[in-house]
Amino acid sequence: MAKPTVVFVLGPPGAGKGTQSSNIVKNFNFTHLSAGDLLRAERNTGSDLADLINGYIKEGKIVPVKITCGLIEKAMQEDPNSKFLIDGFPRNKDNLDGWNEVMADKVDARFVLFLDCPAEVSGRLLLVSTERCLSRGAAGGGRVDDNLESLQKRHATYENETKPVLDEFLKQGMLRKIDATRDVDAVWTDVDALFREENLA
Ligand code: UDP
Ligand code: MG
Repeated sequence: MAKPTVVFVLGPPGAGKGTQSSNIVKNFNFTHLSAGDLLRAERNTGSDLADLINGYIKEGKIVPVKITCGLIEKAMQEDPNSKFLIDGFPRNKDNLDGWNEVMADKVDARFVLFLDCPAEVSGRLLLVSTERCLSRGAAGGGRVDDNLESLQKRHATYENETKPVLDEFLKQGMLRKIDATRDVDAVWTDVDALFREENLA
């Protein structure tokens, strides 16, 4: 049996990972596995892990990899598709090490779609991604972490923990960076072209 194809989707909170992922699903028949959505679903079952997961999410911290990776593996096993988008993971070194230990040999990881949406450029604050999350929160998105306090923590986690993982993928020649500060259609034009170039269309 051929190993399932995996593409990771990373970028700061509000970069548009979920939005572009749903375009990829529609156009290229991937299954979308959002690590954040899997964690929120597990929390909502009220299992023994619910309080622990909710605490991490509110604080913008990264849930221990055994939990997240276990949810991803289970979701992959339950889905007959052979193409998976893994959105919002791996977002720190613990995530990457845990994934490599358990999953790396079981999949064909092709590349990382990096939706780049810098919070700061040359000392000037760009609030694009924060504003997107705040408007999602204000529109009743129902997330416990789309408020300014949680968002500041999520951004700090991204800067301190996720950026080193992106550097690691860059070194491995795995990173495909797209400017995600633009509107959805402009970003999609580039994402669409990338998936075609990578023979995933
Ligand atoms: N999270 C985590 N591990 C993951 C993915 C998400 O711990 O692999 C937690 C983390 O607390 C994060 C939150 O879930 O801040 C929301 O993640 P999601 O990807 O949904 O948010 P986004 O970055 O898309 O705004
Ligand atoms: Mg998301």
